Amino acid sequence: MGILSDLNIKPGVIYGDDVLKVFQYAQEKQFAIPAINVTSSSTVVAALEAAKDKKSPIVLQCSQGGAAYFAGKGLPDSSEKREASVAGAVAAAHYIRAVAPHYGIPVILHTDHCAKKLLPWLDGMFEADEAEFKLTGTPLYSSHMIDLSEEEVKFNIETTAKYLKRAAPMKQWLEMEIGITGGEEDGVNNEDVDNNSLYTQPEDILEIYNTLAPISPYFSIAAGFGNVHGVYKPGNVKLHPELLGKHQKFVQEKISAKSSKPVFFVFHGGSGSTKEEFKQAISFGVVKVNLDTDMQWGYLIGVRDYVTKNIEYLKTQVGNPEGADKPNKKKYDPRVWVREGEKTMKARVEEALDDFAAAGQA
Ligand SMILES: [Zn+2]
Repeated sequence: MGILSDLNIKPGVIYGDDVLKVFQYAQEKQFAIPAINVTSSSTVVAALEAAKDKKSPIVLQCSQGGAAYFAGKGLPDSSEKREASVAGAVAAAHYIRAVAPHYGIPVILHTDHCAKKLLPWLDGMFEADEAEFKLTGTPLYSSHMIDLSEEEVKFNIETTAKYLKRAAPMKQWLEMEIGITGGEEDGVNNEDVDNNSLYTQPEDILEIYNTLAPISPYFSIAAGFGNVHGVYKPGNVKLHPELLGKHQKFVQEKISAKSSKPVFFVFHGGSGSTKEEFKQAISFGVVKVNLDTDMQWGYLIGVRDYVTKNIEYLKTQVGNPEGADKPNKKKYDPRVWVREGEKTMKARVEEALDDFAAAGQA
């Protein structure tokens, strides 16, 4: 039982129809795959190890800043070309593709939010994907995200369609965003839900579906249902996952779809949400949940506690409470203290795999 045996999918990074099959399987079995932001081989390892131990599929994603970090913060990254962001994304993909099969689970390799001003980054990655596709028959990335949610709806949908046309021959997935996934909505009045810009309207979802579906089936929508990026005080913004159910019903009726969940939804701004809210969103067709903020916190905990506990061993290379001539090399080796961050981040990924019922699904 599980993705590898039921869908006949090989471990490692998956592409095209395999990604589609996995997302369909997730809707059918009512689970979502956590999308973990990775910025280094160390954060990749933490996420992969969690998925391996939980026998779960996983999405690894690089943001533009995370991709640039992969290449090195010392490299120039012009706004016209985003050289470092492209190089880092390519490097991350090669690294993850090389190690992922050894973890024995399916991995979806994705890039996170790409706003209008970052489109040169997306263009650069598409070039690398197309070159790889020519050589091997798969792109580098399973999937990319384009985020024009801050632009006019018409521009958002038309531009997303243009990029989906470019991705389609490679059977590459494209995630898009509509509505405002806010971050500053403290104290916003949500009583009139349907008229609030925080909440995506069903007509918009239908228009996206009708524009994108004829191009390719490989797309998903991050819709706003009161979600926020980052962690805020509970109660400030009210989540309405049931809106996703309304969208599904609306699209199903308008296109006379057989499936009660014709749309693949993505949950952004998931850090800080309750388990019940996740469960509800998943029941309405959410197949991927982004988690970034909580992972950064998870990684810090191990490093912080290690340094705090061992501080008397970390002040000089030689000399500690056990003696003035005792060496501290075993304490300050990065493999020791960085590993502590991996362990606590891994624990946080495992919690997410359980919360979204992805554990055991590989
Ligand atoms: Zn978003």
